Amino acid sequence: MLKIKDYNELGDVVKGKILDDVKSRINIYPCHSNRASQLSDPCLRKLVYYRTRWQEAELHDVDLQKIFDEGNYQEQIVIRELAEAGIALEQQQRPFEWKEYQITGHIDGMLPVIIEGGNDFTTIPVEIKSMSPNIWRNMHSIKDLEKYPWTAKYIGQVVLYMLMGNAEHSLLILKNKTSGQFKMFVINLNDWLDLKEELLQKAEAINKHIKENTLPDFCDDPEHCLRCQFRHICLPDMKASPGVNFIDKPELEAKLKRLDEIKESVKEFNQLDKEVKEEIKEQENLCVGDYLISGKWIVVNKKEQPAKEASSYKYWKSKIVNLIKK
Ligand code: SF4
Repeated sequence: MLKIKDYNELGDVVKGKILDDVKSRINIYPCHSNRASQLSDPCLRKLVYYRTRWQEAELHDVDLQKIFDEGNYQEQIVIRELAEAGIALEQQQRPFEWKEYQITGHIDGMLPVIIEGGNDFTTIPVEIKSMSPNIWRNMHSIKDLEKYPWTAKYIGQVVLYMLMGNAEHSLLILKNKTSGQFKMFVINLNDWLDLKEELLQKAEAINKHIKENTLPDFCDDPEHCLRCQFRHICLPDMKASPGVNFIDKPELEAKLKRLDEIKESVKEFNQLDKEVKEEIKEQENLCVGDYLISGKWIVVNKKEQPAKEASSYKYWKSKIVNLIKK
């Protein structure tokens, strides 16, 4: 039974309970191997930290946890949709381990496949990823996954699953989180032999650093460092990063400083402006202290366009006059 003081607080109470539940899932887990899902990260130093100082990784926030949760729910929904379509995934969440390279991973499922007319029965890894409609729309081929750092990791992850699962092919399913539509990409191991080599060399390098208690160099992408969970212990000198070019522009620097200073005020302005507009909507002649408030409905007529009928809409336009300001 949900206890509330009155119905005005019902929404906040329900929201608070959901957030508490989401927060309870924000955790750091021990990491004693090179995770297939992480190995494509461009920073080798970060990959060593994942293994040696995982306890010190900065916890992610509630918003990111909600994205992770949503991805997990979507994965379950897709598995159910596949089953309802007569395609049952086997070995769901099967753990893989490649001792030689200390690589581990969990595959979403394995799909039994046989080529028509042939006798060769095989099972291939299936990986399911859901994404926002804007990203999904840009995915026309596997190569497009390389457009974003987090989607680029999917290819490496699946390549490693193929290697660990002894498969030549795999299926990557991309689901549009809003429309529920799918894109299916078949990934052939032979097309990604260079990436395979790169990932295995990375795993070897990480293992060597751990054995010798050393750290790789800092990465040369300050943007990547800004989003890194280990920035507080790594302390990269982002100004000295090879990827950074210095320019001497005092005026631009002063503008940037000022922008930084007024950023909070802009947020506050927008919030107050929104609240005030809401409160004075449809108020025609009102005096509040030294302020005179008026307003009127504005009707906007949109002309007829090819394939679109003429239409109109209206909005309330308020005017606020400070009576004592000259
Ligand atoms: S802060 Fe930058 S250099 Fe350090 S581990 Fe993170 S990404 Fe790599």
